[in-house]
Amino acid sequence: MEQKEIIEILKNDNADELYQKAHKTRVENLGHNVYLRALIECSNVCSRNCLYCGINRENKELKRFSLSKDEIIKTAKLAKELGFKTIVLQSGENQVYDLKTMCGIIEEIKSLNLALTLSLGEKTFEEYKQYKKSGADRYLLRIETTDENLFQKMHPDGNFKNRVECLYNLKELNYETGTGILVGLPNQSIESLAKDILFFRELDADMIGLGPFIPHNKTLLKNEKAGDLELTLKVMALVRILMPNINIPATTAMETLSKNGRKKALISGANVVMPNVTPILNRENYSIYPDKKGVNALNKEELKKLYKEIEEIGDKVSGGFGTSKNFKKINK
Ligand code: SF4
Repeated sequence: MEQKEIIEILKNDNADELYQKAHKTRVENLGHNVYLRALIECSNVCSRNCLYCGINRENKELKRFSLSKDEIIKTAKLAKELGFKTIVLQSGENQVYDLKTMCGIIEEIKSLNLALTLSLGEKTFEEYKQYKKSGADRYLLRIETTDENLFQKMHPDGNFKNRVECLYNLKELNYETGTGILVGLPNQSIESLAKDILFFRELDADMIGLGPFIPHNKTLLKNEKAGDLELTLKVMALVRILMPNINIPATTAMETLSKNGRKKALISGANVVMPNVTPILNRENYSIYPDKKGVNALNKEELKKLYKEIEEIGDKVSGGFGTSKNFKKINK
């Protein structure tokens, strides 16, 4: 599929056929399994100033927290007891956990026989290498947009080329590599969304996470218009059709924009859900965007409801690790 064709599809108002095709593609290639990942938001300390993000360093009203190594391991053990097979360890970009500490955390989580995804931002090649050596399996680093000008505007202290390089470093280091974008950023064009999709394919990403932009009232973008759920779903459905074997989460931002956002995503190509296991006291301070929804894994009723929702659409929660079928392991 060329850029022109992608643009036409994204501009088409009637997307039902596209969603159905994406769902069919997911089921034909990956079956009816849905994978749950336990999300631990381990620190909201961040040295960056991404314009759209509610935990960026300029938000002085936010109560900052960082879980200790013991708290992280305790939370991972709890996630395992709840039946999760994968931990996603996410934080702002910071130096709270030095290399030795983070490698120790990774080793302990891996000793629990869990798959581990890291989402700690841009790091050096050496840091990624050491995390991998310690056992990390996967890494999530969203490109957010491949429009370089827009990227620089949204990330005043970021560097587009470095972000791209990080992603290729992760691939080179044999991580199951995830990236993704925000849909509906101010001044983002349909053309650039089409380029984003082609970039995912060029990178040969193993996971793609897409979320609609939601303005946070403590950021400079507080008065901007929110992204559109339908457009986000269209991008997601196209990604599924073009990359049938990758993992795609139904993101919490989709659920935040629409009551049935997660369900819609699961019947339009998504095959992953990331319930939150972060200790409740810290959770409200990990407010990347306002009124963040999502499944509270520490509430048994909510978790049960999620299982039921997944069964209602004809899928089932898998007991497997859910390694991306796209991932080609090279024993390095
Ligand atoms: S998007 Fe990530 S790096 Fe940027 S401010 Fe938010 S937490 Fe920090």
